[in-house]
Amino acid sequence: MNTPHSPNPHHQRHLQYQRTIHRLRMEELVLAIVSVVLIVALVICGIVINNLNKEKAELTDKLKAAGIIVTSGEPSAPTDSANGEATTDSTASAVSSQSASTVSTTPPPETSWTDTDQDGEVDYPYAVVEPTQKTCYLTFDDGPSNNTLKILDILKQYNVKATFFVVGDANLDYLSRIHNEGHAVALHAYSHTYSQIYQSTEAYFADLKKISDAVKAKIGVESKVIRFPGGSSNTVSRSYCSGIMTELSQETLKRGYVYFDWNVDSTDASGNNVPVEQLIENIQRYGGHSSQDVVLMHDTGAKGTTVEALPSIIEYYQSQGYTFAPITVNTPPCTHGINN
Ligand SMILES: [Zn+2]
Repeated sequence: MNTPHSPNPHHQRHLQYQRTIHRLRMEELVLAIVSVVLIVALVICGIVINNLNKEKAELTDKLKAAGIIVTSGEPSAPTDSANGEATTDSTASAVSSQSASTVSTTPPPETSWTDTDQDGEVDYPYAVVEPTQKTCYLTFDDGPSNNTLKILDILKQYNVKATFFVVGDANLDYLSRIHNEGHAVALHAYSHTYSQIYQSTEAYFADLKKISDAVKAKIGVESKVIRFPGGSSNTVSRSYCSGIMTELSQETLKRGYVYFDWNVDSTDASGNNVPVEQLIENIQRYGGHSSQDVVLMHDTGAKGTTVEALPSIIEYYQSQGYTFAPITVNTPPCTHGINN
């Protein structure tokens, strides 16, 4: 007879079968747990990466606004074309020394300046005078235009001096009033056409001489203050001449010019007639954080909202304890990193 422990092949097979089922179920359970853990880990990673990207985007925006990193700097000139305004790039040679209120005429060449964004050391041609108080440099590119007189009226009303980086394809008859009212007439370019001026160093300096001569003919002053079309950090020039901004940023200094970028962008060149509120909000958000703010704005017919926003922009800086000054060769440099 069979005892309970007697080897019964059928019973043993059944036990073995149950053990196998049990083992398989345990393995499935472990697999399920591991899967859940992995999925949770992936979800957490996704959230973390998403947050990091958000932070990166915010930081990038801030840096862009501060001019510390650069996309293309100034938006391309054609934004003004709707109005027939200068679509060329205009830097103007501005002689800051003329503004009766602020500037010495001929600064002594004393200091030397190392630009870490460039190759090696370049002698800075003028003595830099650090302002004793928080200073705002309002700058208007691409003019003069049919908005210039309105801008000048507002500046006069607030007794504020600014800097105009002018172009050749513009109403240069307004230069006298700009100059006579103590603002700096600085050089942007005669032609704002990137493909022309950035095709070679020679082409750039030929254009610079042209606007310099045009300004001198109008106001009798040879300006040494310049702003590169698109800013020194522009990458658009890469399409026309590799490395030209590296070359120009040094060569201009060697030739006695000083170039200025900006560290606060009103973003009025991001489109025509950017809403007034947006311009003011940008200034309030990104401006007022450093002891020297160089504010980028544009003086073209298409920038009517810049004119409308100007009183609020001035009042904001006044409320933050800033004074205003035109840019001169003695103004501490405000430059971007070179990207070409
Ligand atoms: Zn420009």
